[in-house]
Amino acid sequence: MPRGPVALDRTKLLAARYRAATDRPYLASALYSLTVVPSDAVPTMGVDRHWRCYVSPAFVDATPVPELAGVWIHETAHLLRDHHGRAERLPAADQRDPARVNIAQDCEINDDLLADGLVLPAGGMHPRDFGLDEGRLFEEYLPGIPPRPHHDCGSGAHGRPVPWELDGTGPPAVSAMEAQALRRATAEAMRGHQRARGALPGGWRRWAEEVLEPVVDWRRVLAGAVREAVAWAGGAVDYSYRRPSRRTPAMRGVVLPSLRRPLPRVAIVIDTSGSMGEDDLAAALAEVTGVLREVGVRGNRVSVLACDADVRAVSRVSSAGQVELDGGGGTDMRVGIAAALGARERPQVVIVLTDGFTPWPAEAPSCRLVAALVGDAPPDPPSWVETVRLGPTAGRPS
Ligand SMILES: [Zn+2]
Repeated sequence: MPRGPVALDRTKLLAARYRAATDRPYLASALYSLTVVPSDAVPTMGVDRHWRCYVSPAFVDATPVPELAGVWIHETAHLLRDHHGRAERLPAADQRDPARVNIAQDCEINDDLLADGLVLPAGGMHPRDFGLDEGRLFEEYLPGIPPRPHHDCGSGAHGRPVPWELDGTGPPAVSAMEAQALRRATAEAMRGHQRARGALPGGWRRWAEEVLEPVVDWRRVLAGAVREAVAWAGGAVDYSYRRPSRRTPAMRGVVLPSLRRPLPRVAIVIDTSGSMGEDDLAAALAEVTGVLREVGVRGNRVSVLACDADVRAVSRVSSAGQVELDGGGGTDMRVGIAAALGARERPQVVIVLTDGFTPWPAEAPSCRLVAALVGDAPPDPPSWVETVRLGPTAGRPS
């Protein structure tokens, strides 16, 4: 006999949350930040980006408390891991396929939950179901996920609106800023738990590390600094008045200001001493020359100076292989900067690749100076030097 709508067994549902929170206390704040919204339209449980948890009363009725506790943690994991935010950064074609995104996200969550000894209801996805390795992020799983029907964990997971969800005027919601604070608090609680007990699933451990010490994409930062410096140097030359081309008949006789943007000259000064690793140097130099090529600064507009205590060589290089690292002790990048600025064709931008253990000029030179610092804890250059820290792992592929 078909059953009518079931009333939500709130006691059972909240007992499951209590159990999840006492078993894994580092998740308690996040678990208790979810607002329960009963819904007959949601197949099992799902979340929206406002940390509202939609719950099917029939599902609660049919599911034992230990499995419900696992689902609570599963749904919380979607929000802690910012799945909806990350889904919005996927290529558009992937975003249009929320079911596959949802499966990939469930794979990212569930391998950890199962390794952690949690029980999940039947049908929970696991990377092994698709012949994929455990311990990856959903973005990595996605290409290996075939199209197939899947239960819906809501817009808090895949980021696409779902019919049963309330709009922004619904019950109490967690703001994006509060969510960020919750992620941090949870990551700190995880770290504390790990220190005290030592046990934390690998996926959560990596997640907490990433939240507490985000890895800055040095390539993007360095590229941005170089691009900006070149644009600045190009724009530093004023508007000049000139007659427009005769081939623009409508403009005949009208003198318009036109922006001449001569490409700047750029000098790259490389520290060949001490702790600059060859890989670090190659990676940093490749990034700088790549960006310069992209913006059209190439050929004789770029000069590379290899520098230790003396400027040993002044050469135009197209690859880092042409730079000889001597690993010697003394470094004085002032010599390299002075040599760069002393060239007949004076550069408007000087980029210094160094471990930072060097004296700097006493005052700002009349050019744009960007220091790209390689290594673990490079000392601070003077405040007028534009500084990009590449960190100790610049050479390793990120
Ligand atoms: Zn899910």
